[in-house]
Amino acid sequence: MEEKILNKDLKIKPNLENYEEAYRNFNWQDYHDELEWWVPGKLNAAHNAVDRHANSFRKNKVALYWVGPNDERQKYTFLELSRLSNKFANVLKKHGVQKGDRVFLFLPRVPETYISFLGILKTGAIAGTLFSAFGPDALKDRLQDSGAKYVVTNSELKERVYKIIGELPELQKLIVIDTNQPGEREISFWNEMSEASDKFECERTEPEDYAFMLYTSGTTGKPKGVMHAHYAVLQQHMTAKWVLNIHEEDTYWCTADPGWVTGIAYGILGVWSNGASQVVYAGRFNPEKWYSILEEFKVNIWYTAPTAIRMLQRKGGTELVKKYDLSNLRDMYSVGEPLNPEAIMWGKEAFGLVFHDNWWQTECGAMMITNYQCLPVKVGSMGKPFPGITASIVDDNGNELPPREHGNLAIRAPWPSMMRAYWNKEEKYKKSFVNGWYISGDKAWKDEDGYFWFEGRADDVIKTSGERVGPFEVESALVEHPAIAEAGVIGKPDPERGEIIKAFVTLNEGYEPSDQLVEEIKQFVKKQMAGHAYPREIEFRDSLPKTRSGKIMRRVLKAQELGQDIGDTSTMEEY
Ligand code: ATP
Ligand code: MG
Repeated sequence: MEEKILNKDLKIKPNLENYEEAYRNFNWQDYHDELEWWVPGKLNAAHNAVDRHANSFRKNKVALYWVGPNDERQKYTFLELSRLSNKFANVLKKHGVQKGDRVFLFLPRVPETYISFLGILKTGAIAGTLFSAFGPDALKDRLQDSGAKYVVTNSELKERVYKIIGELPELQKLIVIDTNQPGEREISFWNEMSEASDKFECERTEPEDYAFMLYTSGTTGKPKGVMHAHYAVLQQHMTAKWVLNIHEEDTYWCTADPGWVTGIAYGILGVWSNGASQVVYAGRFNPEKWYSILEEFKVNIWYTAPTAIRMLQRKGGTELVKKYDLSNLRDMYSVGEPLNPEAIMWGKEAFGLVFHDNWWQTECGAMMITNYQCLPVKVGSMGKPFPGITASIVDDNGNELPPREHGNLAIRAPWPSMMRAYWNKEEKYKKSFVNGWYISGDKAWKDEDGYFWFEGRADDVIKTSGERVGPFEVESALVEHPAIAEAGVIGKPDPERGEIIKAFVTLNEGYEPSDQLVEEIKQFVKKQMAGHAYPREIEFRDSLPKTRSGKIMRRVLKAQELGQDIGDTSTMEEY
C-alpha cells in the first residue's frame, strides 16, 4: 500500500523533543532520579505512584475521577489514595499477608480495585488482576496456579469463586467490598478499613522483587502467569512521560481495564507516578457516553484501542463526534491490535488529531515500539523503539535480518519492565529467549528509517501460493471499503495453494450481504494490494469473536472454519 506520512501541528511542546538524540544517548540509570528511591537502591512502585505525591505539592490534586456504571461520581486526591491504600495494606498485614504472597483482584473498575492494588504492592505482596467477566474455570486455572492467598471481590462475583473454592487449598479468605456481614470465609473490606490505621510503613522492596502478575490467555494449554518486578515502574513512568506526553495540568483517560496489562501500566502505575489526574469510567462502551466523558472532564490525553476506534467510527462516526466540545483533547493513543490506516485517517477527520499507535505485550510490561509526538507518523506503522529499547527483526536462530525482510519481532533482553518469569514455568520462560533476544511471537519488518511494521501473530501469518501474507495488511485493505466495519482474515488450507485467504467481515449500517458485494470487495482488495493477495472467500458475520480487551481472535475464526476445538476462550467476550 502507498505510504502516507502525517506531520502534526503540535499544540504543546512535547516532553520528548528530539527522539534521535534521546535514543542515541539513552541509559536507564540516568533516569533513576525520576523516581523516589530508598537507600540503598530500594524501590516500591506503589510508593512512587501515590505516596510520593501525597508528600508533595500534589497532595490535594485529584488523582482519580471515577464515573460509575450508573453515572455515579467520586473523586480521590493523591493524599486520599495514599491513606486508603495504607489502610488496606494494614488490613492485609493484620490477616497475615507477607512479602511475596499473591493477592488477587476480582472486581470491576471500582475505586476499591485501585486502592487494593496499591495496598498490595505496599505490603510487598504480589497483586494479580482478573477480568470481572471470568467464569469459574478461568478463575480456577489462575487462582490455583498462583496459589493466591486472598481474593478481593464483591458479593456478585464471589459466587463464582465459591464454585471452585474447594480446589483452592492455598486460598484463605475472600475480601468482600460490599458487605458488612461477612461469611465464614470472608472479610468485610470496609469494616476492616474503618478500623485500620491510615499510616503504613511501605515495604522497602528491591527493584527486582515481584510487584504484579497477569495471566496471558494462552492459545494452547494453560494460561501462564507473567511476573513483573517493581523496577517496571521506571519504564512505565518514562513512557507515560515521553510517549503519552503527560503534562502537569493534564487530565488523562485510559479506557483499559486493570485485568489487562495496559490498565495496570497506564491505568495505575505509569500515569500516577507522573502525578497525573486520570478518569476511570466503569460503565460499558457507548459512543455518546465516551464523548461526554471526554467533554466533561476536559480530557487532554486519551489512550484506547483499535476495536473501540472502529466502533466509534461505525456508530455515529464523525457527525456524532462533532456534537461534543472536545477542544481540550490534544493527544490520542492506541494499543492492543494493529491500528488500520483507515482508523487513523478517520481519527484525523473526526478529532483533527492523529491516533498514535504503540506496540507491546503483557510480557513487555510497558511500551516498546511506539509513535511519538515529535516524529511524523507513517500511517500503518507501529513506530520506533523507545529509547533504551533495542528492537529488531530476527530469524528463528536469533540472527538479525536487514530492512524490509520479514521475520520475528524481537527485543534485546533485558529491559526494566521485562517479565521476570512465568510463574512456576521456568522452562517455558527460557524458551522465550533466543541468542539474547526475546522472541515476541509476532511477525513484522522494519524500514530503512527504523519504523516497524506489523505483519501478524506468527500463528496467523498466511502462506498462499508460496507467498507470505500478513492478515493485518489484508484486513486494512478490507476496512477501507465503505461497506466493511471490521475484518478478520485467516489462512484456510487449500490443496492447490497451501492456504487461501479467507475473510470474515461485518458490515456498516445500510449494507446487506450479497454475491455482488463479495465480488466488489474482492476487486477492491485486489486493487489495494496490487493483486498479489486477496480473499478468495468472504463470509459475512454479525460480529467477530474478540477478547475482553477487544482483540479479534483469528485463531477462533480459524478453528470454527476447520471445525476444530476453539481452545481456551476464557478471555473471549460473549457475542
Ligand atoms: P496471549 O499472549 O495470551 O495469547 P495476547 O497476546 O493478546 O494474549 P497481550 O499481551 O495483551 O495478550 O497482547 C499483545 C499482542 O497484541 C501482541 O503480541 C500483538 O500481537 C498484539 N498487539 C499489541 N499492540 C499492537 C499493535 N500496536 N499493533 C499490532 N499488534 C499489536
Ligand atoms: Mg501474547
